[in-house]
Amino acid sequence: MKIITELTLAELTAELKAMGEPSFRAKQIHEWIYRKNAASWDAMSNISKDLRQKCAEKWKFTSVEECESVKSSDGTEKLLLKLHDGELIEMVIIPAEKRITFCLSTQVGCPVGCLFCASGRNGLTRNLAMHEIIGEFQTGCAKTGRLPDNIVFMGIGEGLLNYENLLSAIERLTENEYFGMGVRRITVSTSGFVPGMLKLAERQQELNLAISLHAPNDEIRSKIIPGKISYPISEIMEAADVYREKCNRMVTLEYTLLDGINDSPDAASALAEIARKHHAKVNLIPYNDTGSDFKRPSDKKINKFEQIIDRAGVAVSVRRERGSDRAGACGQLRHQRS
Ligand code: SAH
Ligand code: SF4
Repeated sequence: MKIITELTLAELTAELKAMGEPSFRAKQIHEWIYRKNAASWDAMSNISKDLRQKCAEKWKFTSVEECESVKSSDGTEKLLLKLHDGELIEMVIIPAEKRITFCLSTQVGCPVGCLFCASGRNGLTRNLAMHEIIGEFQTGCAKTGRLPDNIVFMGIGEGLLNYENLLSAIERLTENEYFGMGVRRITVSTSGFVPGMLKLAERQQELNLAISLHAPNDEIRSKIIPGKISYPISEIMEAADVYREKCNRMVTLEYTLLDGINDSPDAASALAEIARKHHAKVNLIPYNDTGSDFKRPSDKKINKFEQIIDRAGVAVSVRRERGSDRAGACGQLRHQRS
């Protein structure tokens, strides 16, 4: 059975016409989905019960089902979502002052297998379909009663390895006829999959790109990201330049801080140099324990690392963990269940 969000407005209109419905019905249903954050067919109060029933027999409203919700003391809410084949993914709702960010997954598992990350521990199971990514988004909207201010694709999976479906989902999220979110409010995070970065650059859209660099040189990087799907830093940064020029967006370098591996003052200076040369910002993410052999550096080391980058004149922020008290790191909740 198809999911209703797979249909375009034109397709929905044609289907309802064929069912003998007046043309404004399609528009009403469309508005429930894309303007009023309906969570089910039943929510569509100005559509007759009979028609809702007929629609429900023809199309599923969503392909994701919430099966667990874990709230942290800081307000972050992590949802475990079940898919039609029983697979599990995660999405996170992150409130900060008046703004809300959704963190969405793009794959079931991840083929890259960064050694500190719970998402890639059992490799890739499958890509998410466009309607499953939209389903995550709709679940968050139904929970919060509104659209988020920002979306980051920093959940489970390497989005650029599921390029077509990710981009179809971004189109649904941004096109005026659908959810109509600003493209500048969306960030795609990649472990540095160069062909995907270059393909994305060709779109010349003002989508934000975050690159998980994690190391200032290939030697250190190879201790963190295994060789399977990893590119030399020089190629990644070349692709980052292309992206910045074509899309007119400053890229962010994400850097998971791992004690004794990539957190030395020399590494900080070298990272600052790369960021400066390529006009990038730096986002430091102290390691969130996932049961790997890595350790989170002390606060003193983290602060020192940040200071070196800051003093080099590079914009730097530290992502103080949100939701870490309740299995907050990416892919952890799912991993605990498998
Ligand atoms: N696959 C993409 C996007 C998902 S991961 C990527 O790697 O960029 C999003 C970010 O969370 C990445 O920067 C990743 O390095 C970081 N991350 C994952 N697990 C983490 C952990 N246990 N501690 C700290 N950062 C983590
Ligand atoms: Fe995959 Fe990103 Fe986790 Fe690496 S950090 S295993 S690329 S999800």
